Amino acid sequence: MKLANYVCGEWKHGNGDGYPLIDPVSGEPLAAVSSTGIDVGAALAYSRRSGTSALQQLKYSQRADLLARIVDVLSANRAEYFEISKKNLGATEADASFDVDGAIYTLKLYAKLGKPLDGKLIKDGAAIPLSKTGVFQAQHFLKPLSGVAVLVNAFNFPAWGLWEKAAPALLSGAAVLVKPATPTAWLTQRMVEDVVKADILPQGALSILCGAARELLDHVLEDDVISFTGSAQTARTIRSNSNVVSRSVRINVEADSLNSAILGPDAAGTPPFDLLVKEVVREMTMKAGQKCTAIRRILAPRQTALALGESISSKLASVTVGNPRNPEVKCGPLVNKAQQKSALEGLSELEMETRVILGGDRNFQPIDADRTVSCFVQPTLLFCEKPLQSQAVNDVEVFGPVATILPYDSVEEAIELARRGSGSLVASVFSDDPGFKRNVTSGIATAHGRIMVVDSSVGTNHTGHGNVVPTCLHGGPGRAGGGEELAGLRALHLYHRRFVVQAGPDVISEISKATVDARTLCD
Ligand code: NAP
Repeated sequence: MKLANYVCGEWKHGNGDGYPLIDPVSGEPLAAVSSTGIDVGAALAYSRRSGTSALQQLKYSQRADLLARIVDVLSANRAEYFEISKKNLGATEADASFDVDGAIYTLKLYAKLGKPLDGKLIKDGAAIPLSKTGVFQAQHFLKPLSGVAVLVNAFNFPAWGLWEKAAPALLSGAAVLVKPATPTAWLTQRMVEDVVKADILPQGALSILCGAARELLDHVLEDDVISFTGSAQTARTIRSNSNVVSRSVRINVEADSLNSAILGPDAAGTPPFDLLVKEVVREMTMKAGQKCTAIRRILAPRQTALALGESISSKLASVTVGNPRNPEVKCGPLVNKAQQKSALEGLSELEMETRVILGGDRNFQPIDADRTVSCFVQPTLLFCEKPLQSQAVNDVEVFGPVATILPYDSVEEAIELARRGSGSLVASVFSDDPGFKRNVTSGIATAHGRIMVVDSSVGTNHTGHGNVVPTCLHGGPGRAGGGEELAGLRALHLYHRRFVVQAGPDVISEISKATVDARTLCD
């Protein structure tokens, strides 16, 4: 089965045999993708001319209704998406739900948030007097861009990765062209196919390129937006593309991250200790650790660090790893042999600076799977004695079920270690000590997009270290890419351009008719 691309309002096959997508448990080929021979420039031009211009005839509220109809289509086909997740990603039921239900939930939220926005333009702030008599004023507005939202996505979230970006883009009035990561393009392609078949969106509002499509960025224009998710290395390539640079094309980058969970010095024997242990095990094993937000580093007071290691490893040892079709299995494989190789290479680098507390066996036997053809990595917990003097533990992102305990000797050291990730998506703090919670939060704030603080009063009511809540900001500075996604309606900013009109009050009030107040984007 060769997956078709959907561009210029037509389904088109790329040339050649294509790149094979596999089942990471059996190694069996499932489908192939190719974008070779597809006229990418024409695809983008059609999306702008047909998709974006039709979407922008509508008000935000009308586009929100379109999102609600997409929710209905995706919900109706949910079981099929779970099946593809299991086959192509080796996902457990919980892993598939995280991606697929996360996508549907996020779309549903944007449909709800967009419903009250009765206008086509956003008014930003009050009029500013520019003359003594008031005959000349200034007014800022936010106008949807007239280009395409070009989504270049990572392999680990084929469903959520599409819709968490497409929801604010479509609500803003930007047509979407998605290029899913090749190894897991099937699920994204199937979702696009279902939405296209349902005939919800205007022609050209949703397109998909399956395959490498390396020429894509050579065709973007000034009013397009590139929303990239993937490795820091690819982000560098994308940012330095000469067409992107010369046209100053807006680009949002969500890249990799050495996220930390930080245990307070007071926490031994308290609920936050147990809450952290549970969270670390969940983060290491959900989606086999293939989450950009997963906990990679566990910062613990030196006197508690070994006891913490024992508690985590005793829970981790009970996690069944293997074929997700076995209902006992809680942790599946990595997505393909290339990811397995890369994770094991990264693990070897970390092992140079650490000792293994649990796991690390390259020959371990997963349940109901052939070790030689499947793509498993054994969940592995490491301990680094001197984390401030070490490089790899603070630098190498092993994209799999691997985490390292880093002991610290003072609050200042804990802050310094968290900041050694050079900019991360998320950190979580587990403590009942008010001073520690305040100092650490303040000390790491500029190096993180999100900080989750868990104490005894929060208990199990938190939303999860690795869980991206669509009402809250997703993104992080520095190495994490410097991007911002979600945060409710704030996400619309990415697809709008701010401009100011300097004119008499009549002109400004005429333009301001049926506008939406920018303050509603922050409610
Ligand atoms: P990747 O290898 O960087 O690929 C990401 C996307 O970029 C893919 O669609 C890939 O296409 C495309 N790509 C690669 N080279 C390109 C080029 N020269 N021009 C245009 N597109 C290009 O990343 P990945 O392996 O899929 O994903 C894993 C990484 O993503 C991890 O580092 C993880 O931390 C990060 N991630 C971050 C977030 C976040 O929100 N911050 C979320 C998920 C994942 P092909 O697949 O066709 O090569």
